[in-house]
Amino acid sequence: MFSIFYTSKSIRKQNELSRRADYDELTSLYNRHALNQIGNNCIHQAKMAKANFSVAIIDIDYFKKINDTYGHAKGDDVLKELSSIIRSFSIRGIIPGRWGGEEFIMIAPYTIDYNEFCVVLEKLREKIEKYKFAITAKNNIAITISIGASSVKNVSTLDEAVSFADKNLYQAKESGRNKLVS
Ligand code: GH3
Ligand code: MG
Ligand code: MG
Repeated sequence: MFSIFYTSKSIRKQNELSRRADYDELTSLYNRHALNQIGNNCIHQAKMAKANFSVAIIDIDYFKKINDTYGHAKGDDVLKELSSIIRSFSIRGIIPGRWGGEEFIMIAPYTIDYNEFCVVLEKLREKIEKYKFAITAKNNIAITISIGASSVKNVSTLDEAVSFADKNLYQAKESGRNKLVS
């Protein structure tokens, strides 16, 4: 009896540990560790199919200002709410995750057409632009996001793929923010 109890407890503990290893604590999205593994898989599949896959990096515009104005805890709430919206756009096998801080990525396997992926990203950008984030019972705020996307081939790591998307993110920021550069 004791050993059964002990076993199920240790399995639960093991499950809890593996959940923590793969998911970001604040947002429950895949963390960077899990994303790298998923990315390796996408790279491999795309190579086998001799096809491109796509990646996008999403960065909140002027997020520091949200923290400075409303406090870090409210900033965390915005990150959580934004994450659930990002998750709702993970259609057709698009995989979202938290890349770090206020940056998120979406990976589209080679089976998803790049133009289709960009349509989804643009819809996400528009949704965020219109969305009211609840800061207090009375106070809502709006935020915007900038997105850099890229269709990639012959990369060895997800970091390498993200670096291409990152160049486009930089362009999006430089050219006024609240836009997708693909
Ligand atoms: P930009 O439009 O150029 O992206 O401006 P920004 O203010 O969003 O960019 P910057 O890199 O200057 O600031 C990012 C901020 O994100 C600063 C950091 O404190 C905040 N941040 C990162 N991770 C977290 C987090 O987990 N919680 C909260 N509340 N803030 C975070
Ligand atoms: Mg950033
Ligand atoms: Mg930012």
